[in-house]
Amino acid sequence: MNHRVGLDRGQTLLFPERLEDYIGAENPVRFLDAFVGSLDLPALEFAKARCANTGRPPYDPAALLKLYLYGYLHRVRSSRLLEAECHRNVEVLWLLGKLTPDFKTIADFRKDNLQPLKAVARQFTLLCRKLELFGGELLAIDGSKFAAVNARDQNFNAGKLQELIDRADARLAEYLQQLDASDTTEPSPSAVSPSELAAKIAALREKQDWHRELLAQLDAEQKQVSVTDPDTRKLPTAQGNVIGYNAQVAVDAKHKLIVADDVTNEGTDLRQLANVALAAKNNLELQHADVVADAGYYNASEVSRCVECGLTPFIPKADTSANTALGLYGKNQFKYDLTKDVYHCPAGSELTYRFSTYELGRELKYYRAKHCQTCPLKSRCTRNQGNRTLTREANEHLMEAMAARMQREPHKFKLRKTLVEHPFGTIKRYFGYTHFLLKGLTKVRTEWSLTTLAYNLKRVLNLVSVEKLLLAVG
Ligand code: SF4
Repeated sequence: MNHRVGLDRGQTLLFPERLEDYIGAENPVRFLDAFVGSLDLPALEFAKARCANTGRPPYDPAALLKLYLYGYLHRVRSSRLLEAECHRNVEVLWLLGKLTPDFKTIADFRKDNLQPLKAVARQFTLLCRKLELFGGELLAIDGSKFAAVNARDQNFNAGKLQELIDRADARLAEYLQQLDASDTTEPSPSAVSPSELAAKIAALREKQDWHRELLAQLDAEQKQVSVTDPDTRKLPTAQGNVIGYNAQVAVDAKHKLIVADDVTNEGTDLRQLANVALAAKNNLELQHADVVADAGYYNASEVSRCVECGLTPFIPKADTSANTALGLYGKNQFKYDLTKDVYHCPAGSELTYRFSTYELGRELKYYRAKHCQTCPLKSRCTRNQGNRTLTREANEHLMEAMAARMQREPHKFKLRKTLVEHPFGTIKRYFGYTHFLLKGLTKVRTEWSLTTLAYNLKRVLNLVSVEKLLLAVG
């Protein structure tokens, strides 16, 4: 038996004469074409959506939008690769009617339409609502760290900068000593010449001055500065630190579609819950929904914002108590008495209110016991010389109510992992989008919206036939 043989390249063939004949009725590009065609691009404020009366005709933003949606859906994000697709990919040839914009035009389109591109993601959410693809009952919030366009050695904190400055001081002292020595003694043929030393000293001083300038530019909260992309920060992950951004999503439980997204450069999820959850609520126009998130989102003021707006959070409390780690009584073994505003300790004594402070953006009330020194349980309660102290957040009653809910309805929180792992797993493993291409928080937010839109497009194309989607866009 012989191998299968391809066509003779010199043979004359009868290719279909129309581009239309290459694209089947169920090809998803037909939906991309119709979806973009259904959008009011001037109303969404796309640049050049209306042509000027003079000058060279620009590319229609609809064509470039179709190219980006197609590219993100097919794991092609860079403007140079998208340019190449315009020349060789029959689906793109069909989609753009054989237009071949260059990479700069493609890149400028994304840069010049940051907000309109985010609005397109919202338009797709509206279409999904029309198709009843959202349940609107349970939302799962989660975040993941993505690398940015900023090398590790281009991110500095105070310690790193001071170490570089001190190291430069030591080298400078060495060079100056060598320079002095060369003035008084006959230099050996292998020694560095005074002019070379002077050049090294000048370069080192210049770098040291730059490090001193960076020291003055450290941001107030995280005490860091990044050089290539000033908005990025060194963020902790389970696999180590990453220089990048913290991308957030709210996922609807019905079909694991993303209903809201955001990006921050904060290292933790402590302050991310309410923004994303409330954006999801607005996008779906919900009156009420349950919200699940992991212990990293446990923050009374964020929970309070959600509750005020009709959302019901389910978030576990991570037991980070130093006392529990030492085998001592944790806070959960002290019972709060709302009527008396005191805590009852395991020995039956009261911890009474002493004072309030404001720490890390949280209002904290301090409660202290009396006579712990004579308590028979002291060795199991505290290692401090004085009396046992507890703190209580301003909205801690909401956290206590949430803990009771978690116990009553544990099945809701159990869904969290499967809901949020699907989008992040698909984005990172299937699409391979593990890093951002653009620089700056505003641009990265748009890039993230395009990424979540690509995920939603892929998901919807798996759930709904192209025929039905075409009918929905009308
Ligand atoms: S040590 Fe103090 S707070 Fe702890 S159980 Fe005894 S009396 Fe209560």
